[in-house]
Amino acid sequence: MKTTNFNIDNLIRPSIKALKPYSSARDEFQGTSDAMVFLDANENPFNNGVNRYPDPQQGDVKAILSEIKNVNSKHILLGNGSDEVLDLIFRAFCEPNKDNIIILPPTYGMYSVLANINAITIKEVQLSDSFQPQVEEILNITDGSSKILFLCSPNNPTGNSFSSESIETLLNKFKGVVVIDEAYIDFSKEKSWIDRLEEFPNLIVTQTLSKAYGMAGIRLGICYASTKIISVLNRIKPPYNVNELTQQKAIQQLSIKDLATNQINGILKERANLISELQSVSFISKIYPSDANFVLVKVDDASKRYDQLIDKGIVIRNRTTQPGCENCLRLTVGTKEENTILIKNLLLISKS
Ligand SMILES: *Cc1c(COP(=O)(O)O)cnc(C)c1O
Repeated sequence: MKTTNFNIDNLIRPSIKALKPYSSARDEFQGTSDAMVFLDANENPFNNGVNRYPDPQQGDVKAILSEIKNVNSKHILLGNGSDEVLDLIFRAFCEPNKDNIIILPPTYGMYSVLANINAITIKEVQLSDSFQPQVEEILNITDGSSKILFLCSPNNPTGNSFSSESIETLLNKFKGVVVIDEAYIDFSKEKSWIDRLEEFPNLIVTQTLSKAYGMAGIRLGICYASTKIISVLNRIKPPYNVNELTQQKAIQQLSIKDLATNQINGILKERANLISELQSVSFISKIYPSDANFVLVKVDDASKRYDQLIDKGIVIRNRTTQPGCENCLRLTVGTKEENTILIKNLLLISKS
């Protein structure tokens, strides 16, 4: 349990606190009866499946997610990808040209891009050699304007999860909001932090349908937090931020029993196969442990190996410029066939 007398109101930007949100037609009347005559939103009345504005609160999508994730809908906010969710968090808590955030490189690139867009200073504390958060350094670098700490766990591009002790210490001691980005949680042996929202009023967890759930194309990001934080984010989100086609597709896919679970299990099996096959590639000197659907490897010359794979028609991610990732390549786990092609070509170029 967070011991400090934490009050989220003290972290919200004054302009956001004072904001009177836009009230859409669907906010003011929420009935869904087909017998109703809807003449309130200036829509075209001829039905083509998308002539009406979508549900601004995405009630049906949230109901399914609530069941799958065992979290009450009132703790959920949806966005046009995690990227929109993260941007909303910036705009709720960080005052441009004044506040700062803390990130732990090497990590997901969007945190610093969003900080730059919002004119927020970035403080960095590099992960340890084993890619774990350096808790003391993080707390030491924190000041009164440090509003958000981003913890990406499992981390992209390293693939490992952060120790739960470190995360818990940071949740207890960090004075701002702690965002745990769980884009890869469904591939992890660790438990999600969404089960502990009640305990930590400063906790925000983000997830996505883009990875394990196979819906990168529909752009649906998920934010889990206290009702207080959710209501602040709701005030600033664009009214119809998740479109009708996205909502329909999400509902349709999430309703297929065991679909995601079976695919995740298949990917995990392939991850294990891939890791064991990678061991016979002579120029790979290190295979980092993975809790995600990708594997980071250290090679002799990342840029050379990257180019050689491109020549074979295989695209991976070169992460060599990231701190602590010199000569590292990130390999996404594909289908059995795709992974076989990757391994075959890695062995081929290792002999050339
Ligand atoms: C892929 C990824 C996301 C997903 O972003 P979307 O906008 O939801 O597609 C979020 N965080 C991390 C760390 C990722 O790697």
